[in-house]
Amino acid sequence: MRDKYGRNIEYLRISLTDRCNLRCKYCMPEEGIHDKKSHNEIMTLEEIYEVVKISTELGVWKVRLTGGEPLTRLGVTGLIEKIAKLDKIKDVSMTTNAVLLKKYAKELKEAGLKRVNISLDTLKEEKYNEITRLGSLRDVLEGLEEAKKVGLLPIKINTVLINGFNDDEIEEFVELTRNEDIEVRFIELMPIGQTADWAKEHFIPNTVVLEKIKELEPVEIWDKSSPARYYMLPGGKGKVGLINPISHQFCGNCNRLRLTADGRIKPCLHSDEEINVLKTMREGGDVREVLINSILSKPMRHHLNEGETIRRNMVRIGG
Ligand code: SAM
Ligand code: SF4
Repeated sequence: MRDKYGRNIEYLRISLTDRCNLRCKYCMPEEGIHDKKSHNEIMTLEEIYEVVKISTELGVWKVRLTGGEPLTRLGVTGLIEKIAKLDKIKDVSMTTNAVLLKKYAKELKEAGLKRVNISLDTLKEEKYNEITRLGSLRDVLEGLEEAKKVGLLPIKINTVLINGFNDDEIEEFVELTRNEDIEVRFIELMPIGQTADWAKEHFIPNTVVLEKIKELEPVEIWDKSSPARYYMLPGGKGKVGLINPISHQFCGNCNRLRLTADGRIKPCLHSDEEINVLKTMREGGDVREVLINSILSKPMRHHLNEGETIRRNMVRIGG
């Protein structure tokens, strides 16, 4: 279905949980999120499935599961299996910190998951533990290897650029793309929720990647709705993506809706507008109509670059 500005909405990102097994400094305060949802405020897997099913009738064919950490949600494999079997669904993917991926990669693949985006901000064990406050790099690397082994491909690595923390590792990350068909995507820090001030302090524009690695050559990609601009090392096998969520250059091609774990549709990531689809569903209302209205209420663009910040933490939106 098309929104008011003619954009074809075909992609649903679903946050399965607002809980996480890590505490990344730019995403969550150390003590965890303050307004954690109680069990019955969170959508059941059946309710999520129902929303996906109805959204496919409106043109959604692509689903990404995220969170919080999606692999901490019990029953995730069963949900993927059901979603992947829906007639119109062509692509089910996941964004994960990969801490539990070694354990689940095989069953996820068998359930119908196509590919994973793995969040990884440093290749150094100590720094990994510092930024995530809880995690071990070894778990992530083992998860990544397992994902490759079972064919959750192509692998994309999401690296949030953090001034004074990982700008000295840009070269190493880019090197990963030289001999392997991996996509490394550098994402600019967004000032979101309780960690907005931290993010503002540690922001660096991702043009620093091009300044540091002069060899990178721009490449055209067919997917205009992708928020990344792509580059490659000459003769390299993989790609380097630069994602700049603050400048609104990809709002014009935005094809997505987001569903939060507590059942709110967010027509735009960078706006506080939310539509409570879970309430409608639990009251026996018309979910299809809520989805149609959500699509029609997508704003033309966000205003984050004009100093606006949003209230919900990333962990509760689903990045
Ligand atoms: N836990 C999973 C993970 O880390 O991949 C999925 C959820 S996480 C919120 C999704 C993505 O959002 C991660 O790649 C993370 O780095 C990114 N993210 C979180 N907070 C961010 C922020 N303030 N600015 C930019 N990216 C952020
Ligand atoms: Fe958890 Fe992902 Fe947020 Fe890190 S970025 S705290 S892994 S939800």
